[in-house]
Amino acid sequence: MIRFDRVTKRYEEGHDALREVSLDIARDELVFLTGHSGAGKSTLLRLVMLMDRPSRGKVLVDGRDLASVGSRGIPRHRRNIGVVFQNHQLLFDRNVFDNVALPLVIAGYDHREIGRRVRAALDKVGLLQRERALPVTLSGGEQQRVGIARSVVGRPRILLADEPTGNLDPALSAEIMQLFEDFNQVGVTVLIASHDLALISRLQHRIITLRDGRLLGAAA
Ligand code: ADP
Ligand code: ADP
Repeated sequence: MIRFDRVTKRYEEGHDALREVSLDIARDELVFLTGHSGAGKSTLLRLVMLMDRPSRGKVLVDGRDLASVGSRGIPRHRRNIGVVFQNHQLLFDRNVFDNVALPLVIAGYDHREIGRRVRAALDKVGLLQRERALPVTLSGGEQQRVGIARSVVGRPRILLADEPTGNLDPALSAEIMQLFEDFNQVGVTVLIASHDLALISRLQHRIITLRDGRLLGAAA
């Protein structure tokens, strides 16, 4: 589903954030991406969602070379990818329902379909009864679950997460990882950048490690 073929990403200042990275993530996989701060994890995720382009090498998503996706094709590409951030970037002046609905509103879905899908997504993350709540009234774990509901409401085939448990205690972090496992179970390819080794090594998934932009021990 996600393939990197000798990808190098050099930023303008001449620093290589990724060096000759090759990897292959299958459709049914959940994979953790780990490594020290600055190792290149976010850069790798940005290349998958076309927030950035490689300097050398190829990135393929669902068999498609992203070099063939022009700027006009980017919104369509991103519709297949849900993204979860550490600080969930919720709109604090809108309630839970409206936050989750946002991607569908932007994509122009009709009212009834939005209601149906938002409630289905909130149900999946266990927050159906909080749809009218404002984000400030929710706990950190609940806020992160709203962010996850928003990322899956468009039914993406790929879910990318950048330090999704960074602000959460161990019990809540485990719950959030369980949610990602649930989505993976229903066929979503999941790639999670995390440096919480204690947590991710307990889960039975492939871990790939970046060090200074190079991949270590990746069974690609
Ligand atoms: P991680 O997510 O593992 O912390 P990043 O992918 O954010 O790592 O960063 C990898 C390296 O690339 C770091 O040295 C970082 O300073 C550098 N970097 C990241 N984004 C940019 C950018 N937009 N311009 C220049 N350098 C960047
Ligand atoms: P419905 O068909 O009524 O939307 P589903 O149970 O199929 O209900 O899905 C409920 C929600 O769970 C979806 O709106 C979506 O947010 C998420 N979801 C379910 N299946 C997938 C999937 N394969 N990929 C991504 N998200 C999914």
